[in-house]
Amino acid sequence: MLAACLLAGCIAALIIRTMASAGGYIEVRIEHPGSETKTNVYPLSVDRDVTVRLGDGFNVVHIADGQASISEANCPDLICVHTRAISHIGEAVICLPHGVIVTVIDDAGIDDTVEYDAVTW
Ligand SMILES: [Zn+2]
Repeated sequence: MLAACLLAGCIAALIIRTMASAGGYIEVRIEHPGSETKTNVYPLSVDRDVTVRLGDGFNVVHIADGQASISEANCPDLICVHTRAISHIGEAVICLPHGVIVTVIDDAGIDDTVEYDAVTW
């Protein structure tokens, strides 16, 4: 249901806005069984490392030069760490063991419920 809403939002955004191949933001989504789904959005234009912690697990989302990747993690497979950096809308880096999904989105996908980093905004 939520996915359908997001999809509808994306389609509407594409109709309203000019399509750009490069995404402006990344959405970091944490879907861990037994806990609430959390979503944070960060601009790709600001270089930074975002550490996602889940109990004993962690992933470091590295944003630099308009690209995002997971630079460090302590998941068993490390597939997320070996996934190449993403920068275009719809591309994603997924850490299945930790339920962490990093997706490139257009800025139109942002709603008012998202918490922004006060310093960079
Ligand atoms: Zn991983």
